[in-house]
Amino acid sequence: MKTIPHWIDGSPVLGTDTAPVFNPATGQEQARVVLGGSTDVDTAVAAAARAFETWSESSLTQRTQVMFAFRQLLVEHEEELGRIISAEHGKTVDDARGEIVRGREVVEFACGLGDVLKGSFSDQVSRGVDVHNFRQPLGVVAGITPFNFPAMVPLWMHPIAIATGNTFILKPSERDPSAANFAAELYKKAGLPDGVFNVVHGGKDAVDAILAHPGIEAVSFVGSTPIAKYVHEQATACGKRVQALGGAKNHAVVLPDADLEFAANHITAGAYGSAGERCMAVSVAVAVGSAADGLVEVLERKAREVKVGPGDAPGTEMGPLVTKAAQERVENAVGTAATQGATVVVDGRGLKIDGHEEGFFTGPSLLDHVTTDMDAYKEELFGPVLAIVRVDTLDAAIDLINANPYGNGTALFTGSGEAARRFQRKVKVGMIGVNVPVPVPMSYYSFGGWKDSLIGDSPIHGPEGVRFYTRPKVVTTRWPQPAQHVAAGFTFPTSS
Ligand code: NAD
Repeated sequence: MKTIPHWIDGSPVLGTDTAPVFNPATGQEQARVVLGGSTDVDTAVAAAARAFETWSESSLTQRTQVMFAFRQLLVEHEEELGRIISAEHGKTVDDARGEIVRGREVVEFACGLGDVLKGSFSDQVSRGVDVHNFRQPLGVVAGITPFNFPAMVPLWMHPIAIATGNTFILKPSERDPSAANFAAELYKKAGLPDGVFNVVHGGKDAVDAILAHPGIEAVSFVGSTPIAKYVHEQATACGKRVQALGGAKNHAVVLPDADLEFAANHITAGAYGSAGERCMAVSVAVAVGSAADGLVEVLERKAREVKVGPGDAPGTEMGPLVTKAAQERVENAVGTAATQGATVVVDGRGLKIDGHEEGFFTGPSLLDHVTTDMDAYKEELFGPVLAIVRVDTLDAAIDLINANPYGNGTALFTGSGEAARRFQRKVKVGMIGVNVPVPVPMSYYSFGGWKDSLIGDSPIHGPEGVRFYTRPKVVTTRWPQPAQHVAAGFTFPTSS
């Protein structure tokens, strides 16, 4: 059976401990991935620190040229990488290609970094004195990423870290590890020097070694909220810069003036696309006033129409869940919702796909009359389950969203500009869609939620990514002519 190795200093590195990697569509183990610990992290940090000596001195043009080449390779290998992701994650190949395209946009942002990195210059702030600023890389930085976007989420991090002159260690999810090694090979083909991009596989041991390592300056984390809190706490206690993005419960509000067919279409795709395993998935539809009955009717029809199957089969819209444990967790949650009083309008439990009976499939589930005290509302289910909560007014919908501990994404479906404006100003959520169900910002903005969806204060990629991976310097300069020499004063200097 294939073993997926670490990638350190430009080469694959094997290890003794391994964990299984499944094909979620068949339920079969298809490979083993090495599980690293402190020794592997030490080796990777040493390689990355050596590489930093020269990479941080390379020109901005050399660095962005590598990004242009890397981007082109991502275009050429999109289908191949999409199939690798689909085989380990379960999502459809088209959906996997979508995440590659969205991740590639960050590489495109990094190709144009020259503009973003420009400093500013102030002439003659005092007589004969000028001030300018510039930013420098931090050193060795690390990224710890979740299973649900094995290409895109790491791409939120490493292109910007590397293009700004840092060297990088990626600790991907152990459930779908191959995309990380594929990226490493593409970087090598793109001309990136060995040691600039490294991959250490593993679970908690590898993460803990990264958080405590004195040679790592900053940690980017994306994953569930409890682990985001843990990573933030541990790494900041070790003096590191940390960005930590957590889980989500995203609400889509539908007002009575919305086009219900349009709203239901988009909410269905946002809820069941990638089997609901997206941090921006719509997991709660908030039906306002008279919108409710009509909305439920269309959502039910659309949920029943979703084509579930293996991610690589033509026509599949929704694949299996990532693990058997995830499948069981989601199906149990639907059962609990029924016992707690929700109406199960569409029940996805127990779905069997011909020829894939051992796959981790569950069908779309639609729950109506969900209330905020039910587990189906309180927990991030991270599966194809859409809960409908009914409220009377837009303000009640906003209060509901604001009382939720998460604040990643939200959407409003309406024909009213006034309602949309009130919603976007009042709602305590980081990313907002108006008639857009999954409002993932473009790469030249930054991505990040509020409240328990982002621990600390740094969103990811875009301008915030550049700020995160660099430190500023401000230089005050005087080039006096000999005739202008004046005695230095002993009072605190002020402009004159
Ligand atoms: P996870 O938190 O279980 O794992 C994330 C990373 O942390 C993985 O690399 C994993 O190996 C590591 N990890 C897991 N348990 C650990 C522990 N006890 N100690 C140290 N490290 C540990 O998340 P997941 O299940 O892989 O991904 C799904 C979660 O990620 C969901 O909650 C989802 O909302 C969230 N997510 C958030 C965003 C965002 O941008 N906010 C994006 C994608 C996913």
